[in-house]
Amino acid sequence: MAISPLMPVYGRCEVAPVRGEGAYLFDADGNKWLDFASGIAVNLLGHGHPHLTKTIQDQAARLMHVSNLYGSPQQQAIAERLCALTFADTMFFTNSGAEALECSIKTARAYHYATGNPQKFRMITFSNAFHGRTLATISATNQEKMRKGFEPLPDWFHVLPFNDLAAAEAAIDDSIGGFLVEPVQGEGGIRPATQEFLQGLRALADKHGLLLVLDEVQCGVGRTGTLFAHEQYGITPDIMAIAKGIGGGFPVGACLATEKAAAGMVVGTHGSTYGGNPLAMAAIGAVLDVVAQPQFLADVREKSQRLRAALEQMIPNHDLFDHVRGLGLMLGIKLNADSRAFVNHARSFGILTVAAGDNVVRILPPLTIGEAEIRECVEKLSAAAAAFQVPQAA
Ligand SMILES: *Cc1c(COP(=O)(O)O)cnc(C)c1O
Repeated sequence: MAISPLMPVYGRCEVAPVRGEGAYLFDADGNKWLDFASGIAVNLLGHGHPHLTKTIQDQAARLMHVSNLYGSPQQQAIAERLCALTFADTMFFTNSGAEALECSIKTARAYHYATGNPQKFRMITFSNAFHGRTLATISATNQEKMRKGFEPLPDWFHVLPFNDLAAAEAAIDDSIGGFLVEPVQGEGGIRPATQEFLQGLRALADKHGLLLVLDEVQCGVGRTGTLFAHEQYGITPDIMAIAKGIGGGFPVGACLATEKAAAGMVVGTHGSTYGGNPLAMAAIGAVLDVVAQPQFLADVREKSQRLRAALEQMIPNHDLFDHVRGLGLMLGIKLNADSRAFVNHARSFGILTVAAGDNVVRILPPLTIGEAEIRECVEKLSAAAAAFQVPQAA
């Protein structure tokens, strides 16, 4: 047999962690890496955070899973907490980001159906977006590497240039039901939406009776220095998908909505066997205990400024680096070379980062990092850059 027991859809690297502690990962041989990838913006309290770990352990012993056929005081409590912290009036819990997007897309669809406009089944999405790997969510991006081999895909999405408000306005017709957008594109290359763009989409949605759906799966939950990134744009969405950081490493997501936008999501329209189980709710509760504190978020903004300044200081010392961009602790270094090659190279200097589109290296540390880790990150990236041979084009 030539195929491996694991379906070979990932090009896995040599790092094989067996233990984590704070901002560090260790393999079975005791090798150590500074983890500025955080499982791609997931482990926002770092590894082995005592409060998160203990909360999950205690809940596992008490009650791990019950069906959504029964009442869930655990879901009720977390939903009330998230409603109080956000624009939302209601929510549905999922096990992943893509499922949170699926629920968001269904919620938008159901809204227009319930309000007498079933023809508004399409959504406008944006170039280089990433919304997940299900059939609906790969249909929502123009990224060839996600779509190839899975076409024909449904034409439910109209993909337009990111940050181009005029193009979005011009594309509105009677089949369009809303906009789906990441306030800060992650996988697409750490590209923040401009203020004019997000505020403009909000205004267009209001003017034309459309829904603004935000994908904060990567940029949400304190990552950008506010609990949700849209807070920095002075707007609120009608629907928002979250996941990744909200569980701090436990697989959980949610689709949050206003009462109005959720008008179509009545009994029997959606479901999930595992969605919102007590263990997942315990994880969210523990993450919110830490991240939803104003002082914690203020600290994230301060650390962001220090990390960003340190990275910016490093830029002119290496031809490899072009500039730093991003928001909060969701930072990207734009390279003048292949970012995948540099991320691979930097691992042997003891630092984990993530490549993104547009030759960007994503810097996504745990939100709990301190001054020492910021310094170590810059030292390791500098050393890696100094030794990096720009691969010659064939
Ligand atoms: C990771 C991600 C998703 C998909 O989340 P999964 O948990 O992998 O399904 C969707 N949108 C954005 C912006 C993401 O970064």
